[in-house]
Formats: sequence, structure tokens, C-alpha cells
Amino acid sequence: MSIVLPELPYPKDALSPVISERTLEFHYGKHHQAYLTNLNKLTPDAGLAEASLEDVIQKTANDSSKAGIFNNAAQVWNHTFYWHSMKPGGGGEPRGKIGDKIRESFGSYDSFVADFKAAGIGQFGSGWVWLVLDQNGKISILKTANADLPMAHGKKALLTADVWEHAYYLDFQNRRPDYLSAFLERLVNWEFAESNL
Ligand code: MN
Repeated sequence: MSIVLPELPYPKDALSPVISERTLEFHYGKHHQAYLTNLNKLTPDAGLAEASLEDVIQKTANDSSKAGIFNNAAQVWNHTFYWHSMKPGGGGEPRGKIGDKIRESFGSYDSFVADFKAAGIGQFGSGWVWLVLDQNGKISILKTANADLPMAHGKKALLTADVWEHAYYLDFQNRRPDYLSAFLERLVNWEFAESNL
């Protein structure tokens, strides 16, 4: 079995002007594709050619001898999850169950925004910032380095923002805080986050 690149859930220009078509051409068309191409080269020799993407991730997490496979598999999963974490015309304070959960866990939506941004800005180097469901049923913010992801820590991902420079450099250059503000104000797909609860 070969894992294939999933379709983007919207056209490449749909997130513009926050995230440009050019960024998605590279980020989806080159970076996401490259992780997938690398993964499909590595899995046969590891006896993982028939495993699902999630199984590959779980079987290689915390095994330094399989870091190459884990990094590529997790990056394939992370990027697909990130595309779905955004939508054209998204963002702002959510209503419904996810909104209630956020206010219950963080005190207010503004506190959530401050904490999410601080975690994303505070991730030194490459990585991801997540909203996650913990095993105790509470939601919290998690930042991870490089390809690391919530499922390797027994947590369920609800939403993510990519904070690797390749995610925002063409549109925001070094201004990661502005990228994270725009992500929260204009792109977050709260229906997707709620569907993961
Ligand atoms: Mn990326």
C-alpha cells in the first residue's frame, strides 16, 4: 500500500490574503508531497508498507532508530490535519460545544487566544501548536517540536497551527505572532475542531 496525498479541502487561493496561493503551492504541493514521497520510500524496508498512517506513527514514535519514518509519517498526518483546521472565512470566537469547552477550560475566549499565541510564539524553532483533548476530558494547549504530535502523548488533536517557518514566511516573513493572530481571527475552522471532540 502506498499512502496518497489527500486533496486540499479548498482551492489553493481560498485562504488568501492571509495565506497566499504561492504559500499553498509550496507548502502543500512541495513540502507535504515530499514528506509523503519520503514515507513511501521508507515503509517497505521497515515492514510497514501495509500499515495505516496512524499505525506507522504509533509504531515508530519514541523509537530513535525509526526517527526517519516517524518524522515523515507524522508530518504527513500533521499537514492533512492542519489543512482541515482552516477554512475560508473562518476564525473568531466559536459558538456551540467547542465554544463552551474553551470558555470552561480557559476562562474566556480571549484567554485561550493569548495562551494559544504564546505557545505558538514560544515554540523555539520548528513545530506545531495544538488544541487537544486530554484523557481527563479537559481541553488544553500543547506545543510540539518538529514532527511531534498529540497522539504520541496520549492526547487527541482538535486543531493545529503549523509554526514551521515554511508555513508563513512568504506571507509574513519573520512575523510569527501576526501569522498566529490572522490564523485565529480569519482562518480557524471551529466546526472541524468540534467534530474532533
Ligand atoms: Mn508545514
